[in-house]
Amino acid sequence: MSEQIGVISIPADEDGFVLMQCPLCGEFFKLRTEDLKAEDVIEIWCPCCGLKSETYFTKDVIELALKKTENYAMERIYDVFKKLERKSRNSLVSIKAGKKPMRREEYPIRSGIENMDITHYPCCNREAKTKAMYKICGSYCPFCGVRYDEY
Ligand SMILES: [Zn+2]
Ligand SMILES: [Zn+2]
Repeated sequence: MSEQIGVISIPADEDGFVLMQCPLCGEFFKLRTEDLKAEDVIEIWCPCCGLKSETYFTKDVIELALKKTENYAMERIYDVFKKLERKSRNSLVSIKAGKKPMRREEYPIRSGIENMDITHYPCCNREAKTKAMYKICGSYCPFCGVRYDEY
């Protein structure tokens, strides 16, 4: 049984870049939405540490997903009790559903993290945004993992 309980949209910045976080080194970087959707982009290398990870969701995205799941579960449980309440009205044991559970606030995801520079990677002819220091100490192409010393 699988049911989608909500869609999380990750906002892009004014240049069309989406914020990502590497779970291996903890660094933030940004990639273009259209590159992430491109068919030839199957794997993503972290431009900061050069390693490959399965997912690059930021903590904000993960937290929001957990909150959405929790809110969904609470509401379903409440619905079940509400139904029982109706059914049990004339029976010996009566069930009261009580107050509707409070929804936990779902904060929007920030697209922020300032001071990021666009780096162009000629090997793949694509761009990424990383913290300015990676321009000085070098970075990796997120689309093929090639190392660039200072750029
Ligand atoms: Zn990394
Ligand atoms: Zn490349």
